[in-house]
Amino acid sequence: MLFIRGFLWGGYTKLIENLLDGIEVRLGVDYLRHRSEYEQMAEKIIYTGPIDEFFDYRLGALEYRSVRFENELLNIPNFQGNAAVNYTDRETPWTRIIEHKWFEFGRDEQGNDLAKTVISREYSSEWKRGDEPYYPVNDEKNSELYSRYKTEGEKLKNVVFGGRLGTYAYYDMDVTVKKALEAEV
Ligand SMILES: Cc1cc2nc3c(=O)[nH]c(=O)nc-3n(C[C@H](O)[C@H](O)[C@H](O)COP(=O)(O)OP(=O)(O)OC[C@H]3O[C@@H](n4cnc5c(N)ncnc54)[C@H](O)[C@@H]3O)c2cc1C
Repeated sequence: MLFIRGFLWGGYTKLIENLLDGIEVRLGVDYLRHRSEYEQMAEKIIYTGPIDEFFDYRLGALEYRSVRFENELLNIPNFQGNAAVNYTDRETPWTRIIEHKWFEFGRDEQGNDLAKTVISREYSSEWKRGDEPYYPVNDEKNSELYSRYKTEGEKLKNVVFGGRLGTYAYYDMDVTVKKALEAEV
């Protein structure tokens, strides 16, 4: 694999497109709303959504931290010269600034600076049901609730719970890929 600045050249989209070449893909569908249809189609289901939602929250809802983004278009070619800069000090209200162009293209095809740049400031925020679940809260209460859902999941021989939401864990991309390769399906 070719990593540049820590990211795949062409982005993950290119990688996933190639992996899924020749495989039927349906986007914008909710597995849980059409569960019986999909169960009839497949012998084995790999479910990567929230495990508590799969069980209709019958044991309670797992808690998350969420993230709020503030986007800004700047009339300068370069804000921070790097895709992501983390802010770990107490005084700065955001946790990270993303400057999107440095993930991949940065300059035009002739290598010239682009006149503008878009940055996103990332703020940690409270989560409530319906918000995007970003980071699991791995305290005692939530860990215990997750382990009860996990036990329920293990009873279903045709479903594998995978990914950060299916296993209620925070994974970086490298761990996500590793876990997928190690999964017993
Ligand atoms: C804010 C943020 C910043 C991050 N930054 C980095 C970083 O800088 N570097 C890094 O290495 N990693 C980073 N990560 C981590 C990385 O993005 C995740 O680890 C990775 O995306 C996890 O992949 P996944 O397949 O487990 O989950 P996801 O990428 O969340 O994929 C789960 C998929 O399941 C689908 N799904 C869920 N429910 C249903 C349903 N009912 N029906 C149909 N589909 C459903 C979702 O639509 C989604 O496509 C970041 C994560 C977050 C949240």
